[in-house]
Amino acid sequence: MPAPALVVTEIFRSLQGESSFAGLPCTFVRLTGCALRCVWCDSSYAFSGGNTHTLDDVLAEVTRLGAPLVELTGGEPLEQEGVYPLAAALCDRGYTVLLETGGHVPLDRVDPRVVKIFDVKCPGSGMQSRNDLGNLKRLGPRDEIKFVVKDRRDFDWALDLVARHDLDRKNTILISPVFEGSSSPVAADVAEWVRDSKRKLRLNLQVHKLLWGDVPGR
Ligand code: SF4
Repeated sequence: MPAPALVVTEIFRSLQGESSFAGLPCTFVRLTGCALRCVWCDSSYAFSGGNTHTLDDVLAEVTRLGAPLVELTGGEPLEQEGVYPLAAALCDRGYTVLLETGGHVPLDRVDPRVVKIFDVKCPGSGMQSRNDLGNLKRLGPRDEIKFVVKDRRDFDWALDLVARHDLDRKNTILISPVFEGSSSPVAADVAEWVRDSKRKLRLNLQVHKLLWGDVPGR
């Protein structure tokens, strides 16, 4: 049976701007659609529209762009059935595959070779109630947990979750200040909170926004 088609907003090569892979050339496959509505969402243009492609189309474009690192993102990539065979096919071809997910879809069907970046929703996102925290138990040691932080309340909420589940002993914890365009009004504060925390946290600046602002395809 052929793999399900994929609805794709964009495929482009850039620099990975986040996570412990920041700075590496990376091909991004942005899938269309997301059931959440985070108040600070920077990819709302991926909520609808997009173009339908076969798995082979997407693989051909990733091959043409040539980066050894590939990120599957969205939207919410796990809302499309075709993402599972796509992730497996990319791993089979030797790519390092990152999956950026809002975490409201169970992670148990994702190929174990994929590095999952679980974007846990803090209160300031407006989507806290949609977190599937059962996904914390579905993470492997290479996976990373990201908290986008809008204010001190978000930071304290994230810190409490990290402490209660001892998350920083198992996974890289990314603390990502909210950006507005090419800068973040809270980055300097968040940097100090991370610096002074007793937990093992990592400041996650969105390097691509510092370089190019908040534009699609960069
Ligand atoms: S989960 Fe991601 S794509 Fe969906 S609304 Fe939140 S930030 Fe936007």
